[in-house]
Amino acid sequence: MGKNDDKKVCMKTFIESLRCTESHYCRSDSPHRVYLPCDLNIKKLWNVYNEQAEPDQKVKQCYFRKYFNRKYNVGFGTPQTDLCSTCLQYKEKIRRCTDPKEKQSFITNHRVHTLQAKSFFAFLKQNSDEVVNISFDCQKNLPLPKLPDQQAYFSMQINFFNFGVVIGSSKSPLTKENVRCYTWTEVERPKSSNEIASAIHHTLSTYEFKATNKIIRLFCDGCGGQNKKSIFIGMLCNWFNSNAPPNIEEIQVFFPVVGHSFMPPDRVFGNIEKVVRRTAEILEPSHYVNMIKDRATVFKMGVDFQVFDWKTEIKKTLKPTTQWHFKFKPAKRFVLTKNKLGTVLVRGEALYRSDLGQAKGICRKGKRIEAVRPKTLQVGLRIKEDKIKSISNLLKTHYGDEWKSNEALDYFKNIFDSNVENNFERQVDADENEIISDEEINI
Ligand SMILES: [Zn+2]
Repeated sequence: MGKNDDKKVCMKTFIESLRCTESHYCRSDSPHRVYLPCDLNIKKLWNVYNEQAEPDQKVKQCYFRKYFNRKYNVGFGTPQTDLCSTCLQYKEKIRRCTDPKEKQSFITNHRVHTLQAKSFFAFLKQNSDEVVNISFDCQKNLPLPKLPDQQAYFSMQINFFNFGVVIGSSKSPLTKENVRCYTWTEVERPKSSNEIASAIHHTLSTYEFKATNKIIRLFCDGCGGQNKKSIFIGMLCNWFNSNAPPNIEEIQVFFPVVGHSFMPPDRVFGNIEKVVRRTAEILEPSHYVNMIKDRATVFKMGVDFQVFDWKTEIKKTLKPTTQWHFKFKPAKRFVLTKNKLGTVLVRGEALYRSDLGQAKGICRKGKRIEAVRPKTLQVGLRIKEDKIKSISNLLKTHYGDEWKSNEALDYFKNIFDSNVENNFERQVDADENEIISDEEINI
């Protein structure tokens, strides 16, 4: 084996030991691209590599950069700011294509794609007394602890989740009154359809709709899971039937064009991430909460809102999506209305602007949406041993063997100590994919 092959093996081992973040959760526009923390870059990575490498395995920066870019589909920082990969692919196809007929079809398809994206945002921009716009999205997971140590990049961490809800159009100013952030950590619960549905249900149930409001428009994140979509629609049907003010006549749900889903909550997240980047040490969830509090009304899981098992109840009540009266998967817009008897009907549309579908009920025979009474789920989970070990090691390196006597680290001391007593197991969804994961994965 040549000298360079040896170096390559070392770089490979090093890079593959990094802990990456999947591109923004469920965004399937670039499924194989993964991301490193935004405060890391190739130069820093090269430094870390050389620090740990044996003298004869050290490499020059340009060599490392070349190897890294050629072999790995890894980016840095916030994936949301990336250009739409569908658009990029079309542009490339149009540029390369030599057959005029084929070229024209690429041009047309790309145009349809961008027009769809434009109409999504046109709806989000609208503002009137009759319509209430609500958009929501998950911020990328924030790590606990956040330390300036290089080692923190390689350690497991506890994920802090922030689910942002903005009430108003994309032109509305962002204030604490119309921005809500639902926060929790993976110690409390995972980030799956039940948590998201419960947070939105909480917003709908506590927001004071005006008497002039007739239509609610919900703009969802890029979260594509069909399962999640149906649980969400089911929750909405239940709220519409049982809890909505009588002046609400219609609920419209918009799912964005993949790759074009930058929404009002992302502006809030961007501001929060700026503060996070400037902060060297973050050692407990309340530090994140304090940063968010300046920009939003914060609702803490288990304290300000509860999590309900919508998933189990909705699955029992609604027909499987394959038996709905329209094609569920391509539907980008769902319209919920009521018939004269007050029964909720659902219409699914593949386009934002053309109403082609029929409104019908989606419940199983003999089931009624108003009968759905989801159980409250317990907040508080057990953390896996390997995660505790990894975080303990990180804290030891940074604060010394006696880290537990450091008051600033009480958060970790307390959850590690109580983890043993905590005797109920993590209730992982049967379908692992259900957990909305921009959880760390290995490359
Ligand atoms: Zn695009």
